[in-house]
Amino acid sequence: MRNEKEIRDLFPLLDIKVNDRPLIYLDNAATTQKSKEVISEIEKFYSLENSNIHRGVHHLSQLSTDNFEKSRITVQNFINAEHNHEIIFTKGTTESINLLASCYREILKKDDEIIISEMEHHSNIVPWQICCQNTGAKLKIIPFDEHGNLDLETFKNLLNTNTKLVAITHISNSLGTINPIEEIIKLSHEKNAKVLIDGAQSAAHVKIDVQNLDADFYCFSAHKLFGPTGVGVLYGKEELLNLLPPYQGGGEMIKEVDFEKTTFAPLPFKFEAGTPNICGVVAFKKAIELIQRIGIDNIKEYEDKLLSYATEKLTKIGGLKIYGQAKLKSAIISFNIEGIHHYDLGLILDKMGIAIRTGHHCTQPVMKKFKIAGTARISFAYYNTFNEIDKCIDAIEKAKKMLL
Ligand SMILES: *Cc1c(COP(=O)(O)O)cnc(C)c1O
Repeated sequence: MRNEKEIRDLFPLLDIKVNDRPLIYLDNAATTQKSKEVISEIEKFYSLENSNIHRGVHHLSQLSTDNFEKSRITVQNFINAEHNHEIIFTKGTTESINLLASCYREILKKDDEIIISEMEHHSNIVPWQICCQNTGAKLKIIPFDEHGNLDLETFKNLLNTNTKLVAITHISNSLGTINPIEEIIKLSHEKNAKVLIDGAQSAAHVKIDVQNLDADFYCFSAHKLFGPTGVGVLYGKEELLNLLPPYQGGGEMIKEVDFEKTTFAPLPFKFEAGTPNICGVVAFKKAIELIQRIGIDNIKEYEDKLLSYATEKLTKIGGLKIYGQAKLKSAIISFNIEGIHHYDLGLILDKMGIAIRTGHHCTQPVMKKFKIAGTARISFAYYNTFNEIDKCIDAIEKAKKMLL
């Protein structure tokens, strides 16, 4: 059973006031708040353990190396990767995708094809556009319907033997759609295409098992699952990561440097040039452990209840339209109210201490599809409550009266 006080107490920031009102934080798809355990781990690291990793023989260096590598194993178990060296630490989902796109820039040829979808975050569009511009490869787009479901029939027609990679979001950050990635991966593999899953919106909300999914690459950001900013993960199957050229050159990623020829370090270090966000990676472990302690299925079940409760209440507000009504949805709701600019709504809610997102959510093609400039978006985490939803609905009603 979810103990509301216990979970709320774990996140100190939830207790603050904004504009003299108790904060109601409903912008979790942008970033989640950090747990006490994560915050105290950061303090502990810099107070007692700070040192560079994989370099020194001295006590502190060994200690931070151990802690850094323990986090890698925690991530490995969290997503059920076969090997811990299949976990590459990056600074976030954006860098994970750019890492892969920069590798593909070296190996793609003219006439090769990459498939993405119309609902991707810009960070899963632009790197592939750049990659295609540089290689002459073609970028193909899977459209979605008016409810926010991907058009799998079109996808099947787009797939062919030239398809080298399918890069697709697990959960849409603006529509909330949970995409059928099992099926997408299976169909792609039938044509020998590899698959990257952008899991930025899923890691804190649904179970991820990369072996069961047979995902070739999977990425996510620590800051969207109660962890620190500046830490991300790129998972890749060992044999595929070994085939890819290195990403950045520098310290840590080499075996031997010579002006004639440099050889590269084995996985995962080949992709981890330079000093990483050591403290962030170490503290990230505490965030994952919290999720494991609560149980991701319990999180999903509770957030599903928040989603249906909020959806039902929002639907009753006159003139309110929800964008994204897929059958399988995560706890993200994008909407607009007729005659009201989403930005004005966001400003008034902020005056009442309620944090929501407004704008295009880094998904301009989604907005273009609906012929809108942006939406208001509320997105939940496990620490949100039904009471917060009630207050948010009241605030929206009030804002509506003020603005119309
Ligand atoms: C947030 C997000 C990203 C980008 O993540 P960063 O942490 O900003 O690098 C990519 N894709 C989706 C679906 C996202 O929600």
